[in-house]
Amino acid sequence: MRTHARAVVIGGGVGGAAILYWLSRLGWTDVVLVERARVTSGSTFHSAGLVGQLRGSLSLTQMMMNSVDLYRNLKDEVGLETGWHEVGSLRLASSQERMEELTRQAAWAKTFGLPLELISPDEAQGMFPPMTTDGVVGAAYLSTDGYIDPSQLTFALVEGARRRGAEICEDTRVTGIEVSDGQVRRVVTDRGEISTELVVNAGGMFAPEIGRMVQVNVPLIPFAHEYLITRPSGLPLDMPTMRDPSLLVYYRPESGGLIMGGYEREPAPWGLDGIPGDFNGRLLEPDWDRFEPLMTNAVVRTPSLKDAEV
Ligand SMILES: Cc1cc2nc3c(=O)[nH]c(=O)nc-3n(C[C@H](O)[C@H](O)[C@H](O)COP(=O)(O)OP(=O)(O)OC[C@H]3O[C@@H](n4cnc5c(N)ncnc54)[C@H](O)[C@@H]3O)c2cc1C
Repeated sequence: MRTHARAVVIGGGVGGAAILYWLSRLGWTDVVLVERARVTSGSTFHSAGLVGQLRGSLSLTQMMMNSVDLYRNLKDEVGLETGWHEVGSLRLASSQERMEELTRQAAWAKTFGLPLELISPDEAQGMFPPMTTDGVVGAAYLSTDGYIDPSQLTFALVEGARRRGAEICEDTRVTGIEVSDGQVRRVVTDRGEISTELVVNAGGMFAPEIGRMVQVNVPLIPFAHEYLITRPSGLPLDMPTMRDPSLLVYYRPESGGLIMGGYEREPAPWGLDGIPGDFNGRLLEPDWDRFEPLMTNAVVRTPSLKDAEV
């Protein structure tokens, strides 16, 4: 492990990997990523991987558009799969208010150069056959959205950075950050120290505990999140992703079946008393009671889910 670096990135999830990649692409090749376990073993490896570009602010939308550009080209650059599927996305409107929101978003999307189209419920169903059109007023379709394999993406990003000179240190836990005169001096790990003047906290849900090493409060609370994967049932592989914000559910195609998840009205915070130090490559126990309201909603939009094997 290097003993000096221009910057040290803590955390080998997709966030840290992307930061390392872009630093190296911008010419910061003397950079080190430190990961306490294996790259992607935090939240990243079980992300559903939906990629939607239209966000609530110009800068976030621009970042997402840049990301999609990168996803299109990264495989050719580093020779590793990223699992990018540019299948498009559907966002349903199940009320007049939602339709107005989509209409506003469509106008807004144009100013970003995003090809967002407003389509009819039947057109949406033509693209996403398992959905019913019951209660659907219209939909927005964005052909350049899609989904990606978060682990493959992370491996490709670190490889792109490594080829430019970055170092990736797995099984290396940051235990302290030395600061003097208001300036970072050194990152202390269980495998040695790296002197540096710049530290990036890309610790995901662990970011608050890394922040505490330098008395910085990172206002972040992890929430448990569940999705299910159905067995293949002959659904088209190239269906767009689909969100029904009124029913709080999202879907994406997965090997002829579906991934379905959603956003709970009363989400469950997790790890408030501290996250176990070895919580890597691990999942939470399924909580079907908590998932039931989302499942009920999902069956309204995609009735075949009622009998699907998961
Ligand atoms: C079930 C689920 C579905 C999701 N679906 C989507 C989706 O469809 N689309 C989407 O955009 N997002 C989705 N997300 C969110 C997405 O997965 C996360 O936002 C993303 O993976 C976070 O990446 P990260 O790099 O910030 O954190 P992480 O992947 O958690 O990486 C942080 C890393 O920091 C390391 N670390 C922590 N402390 C230290 C230390 N002291 N020293 C060294 N290393 C340390 C950890 O080991 C970990 O690997 C989903 C999340 C979940 C849980």
